Amino acid sequence: MGEKTKYIFVTGGVVSSLGKGIASASLGLLLKQRGLRVVLQKFDPYLNVDPGTMSPFQHGEVFVTDDGAETDLDLGHYERFIDRNLSQRSNVTTGQVYEAIITREREGGYLGKTVQVVPHVTDEIKKRIRLAAENGDDVDVVITEVGGTTGDIEGLPFLEAIRQMRLDQGRDNVLYIHLTLVPYIKTAHEIKTKPTQHSVKGLREIGIQPDILLCRCDRSLSKELKAKIALFCNVEERSVIEAIDAESIYHVPLQFHKEGLDDIVVERLRLDVGPPDLAEWEAMVNKIFSMTESVDIAVVGKYIQIVDAYKSIIESFTHAGVANDVHVNLKWVDAEKIEQDGPALWLEHADGVLVPGGFGDRGTEGKITAVRYARENGVPFLGICLGLQMAVVEFARTVCGLDANSSEFDPDVEHPVIDLMLEQRSKSKMGGTMRLGAYPCVIREGTLAHRLYGETEISERHRHRYEVNNDYREILGGNGMVFSGIYLEQDLVEIIELPGHPYFIAGQFHPELKSRPMRPHPLFRGLVGAAKDLRRARSHGATAAAGREG
Ligand code: GLN
Repeated sequence: MGEKTKYIFVTGGVVSSLGKGIASASLGLLLKQRGLRVVLQKFDPYLNVDPGTMSPFQHGEVFVTDDGAETDLDLGHYERFIDRNLSQRSNVTTGQVYEAIITREREGGYLGKTVQVVPHVTDEIKKRIRLAAENGDDVDVVITEVGGTTGDIEGLPFLEAIRQMRLDQGRDNVLYIHLTLVPYIKTAHEIKTKPTQHSVKGLREIGIQPDILLCRCDRSLSKELKAKIALFCNVEERSVIEAIDAESIYHVPLQFHKEGLDDIVVERLRLDVGPPDLAEWEAMVNKIFSMTESVDIAVVGKYIQIVDAYKSIIESFTHAGVANDVHVNLKWVDAEKIEQDGPALWLEHADGVLVPGGFGDRGTEGKITAVRYARENGVPFLGICLGLQMAVVEFARTVCGLDANSSEFDPDVEHPVIDLMLEQRSKSKMGGTMRLGAYPCVIREGTLAHRLYGETEISERHRHRYEVNNDYREILGGNGMVFSGIYLEQDLVEIIELPGHPYFIAGQFHPELKSRPMRPHPLFRGLVGAAKDLRRARSHGATAAAGREG
C-alpha cells in the first residue's frame, strides 16, 4: 500500500443492473490514462465464498484470475478496461469475510471478546480494502465497487466499513460515488429525480454523503434537472454526472470524460496529474462504430438465454472484430436444438463456430454434432475447454472409430478419451477443486497455434476438472490430430488442431479471460479472420454463380 493511496467507493441505488461494473472500470481507465496506478475491487454481499459453485443461470460467467480465484464477472471488465491482471484480493464476498472471522474465533483469536458485526466484520472488510492496494507495485488508487443496491440488508456491513474508511484515511483520500437511476416516465412525459433522492437519503442515513452522482438515464439531463438533483442530494452541481445509455460499453469512459468525471475525481482527491491520454481508446471506439463488413459466428452452448454467462466471450469477439475490421454478429445456438433438428438448419449460414466451456451433459451431443459439421464442412472452429473436449470426442468417434466420450458424461464408456486426472479423482468437495488459474503452455513450432501466438511459451487461465486422456494421444495423433500446446510439467494437452482444415483449433483453457481491447486474443483474432475469409469466398461464389445464371 502506497503512503498516499486513495480510495474510491462506488455504490448503486434504486435498481440493480445499472452498470456499476462498467462505470467503475471506466473510471479506472480514465485514471490509469492519467498515469495513475489503479486497482479495482468488487464486494459481493452474498454468503457464497466465491461464485465458483453458482450456476451461470444465477450468476453469469465466473471470471478466473491468474492466481486461480473464481470471481465475479465484473473483474473481467476491470481487467479489460485497465489492462492489468488482478488477483483474488479484488473480489471480496460476505462468505469470505465470515469464513475468516469464524475460523479465527474457533482458534481463540478474539481473546474472549464477543465477536460482532461492528467492529469485527467491518474491520475484516477494511483490512481487505487495504490489501487490494498491495497488488505488486505501489497502487495510487483503489476503486471498490460495492455490489447490490443501497437499502439491501446484506450490504450494510460493507457500507458501514466504507463509511469508516473516510475517518481512518482522511477526507482527501476517500471519495464516494453513487450510481443511480433517473428514469423517464412515458405517461407523464417527465424525467423523475425522486428515486435518486430516496436512494441518496438512504446512504446519508447511514452516514455516507456521496461526492459524485452518476445518473443513468436514457435521455440527456437539462441543466435545471441537474441543479435540482444537486440541491436535493447535497452534491455540487458539476458532480451530477449524466450517464446516458451507451451503444457500446467501450464508449462509456469517453462519455464520462466529456462530463468531467475524472477532472472532479482528481481534484477532490488532490491528485496532481495531467489529462488522460485517450487517443488509442477513442480510435478503437470509432472503429467499432464505423466497420462495414460483418461475419456471423455461431456460439453453440447451453446457457444461451443468459448472455451474462458468456460475457468475456462476447467482449473477446468485439476485440477480435476490431482487429480484423469486421463487425461480429453472434448467433446463439442452443446445443439441444442441434440434437433435435440436426446441424445444418442452425449452422448453415455461420462463417465460424465456437463451442464454449460448460458443465453437465445437457447438450453435449449437440455440441459434438456441431464440431463435426464445422470439421467436415471447412467452417472455422474454435473450441474452448469443454469445446476442446467435445472436439476430441468427435474426432475419436468419427475419425478413429472409437466408442468414445468424456467420463464426465458417461463414466462407463469404453474409450474415455477425456478423463479425470488421478489427483482429481479423490476430491469430493465441489468448490475450488478444479485446475484453476494460469498455467504455462509450450507451443510446438510450425503449428497453427505457433503462427497465431507468434511465440512458443504462453500462459493461459483454466477452470476445469477433466483432461485429454494421454492413453489416446497416439491413436488421435496417428489419425491427424495435432497436439500443438502442452503443459509440460504434467504432460497435459492444452491445444489441439487439425492441419488441412482452414481453421480448426481448441484450447483446454479459457482464452476469453485474457483478451483485451488493444490486445485481442490470438485464437479469437484467428477465428474471426478465418470467418472473414470464408464470408468473402462465399459472397464471391454467390456473385460468380449469379453471373453465370445471368
Ligand atoms: N466440464 C468440463 C471439465 O470440468 C469442462 C469445464 C469447462 O468448460 N470450463 O473439465
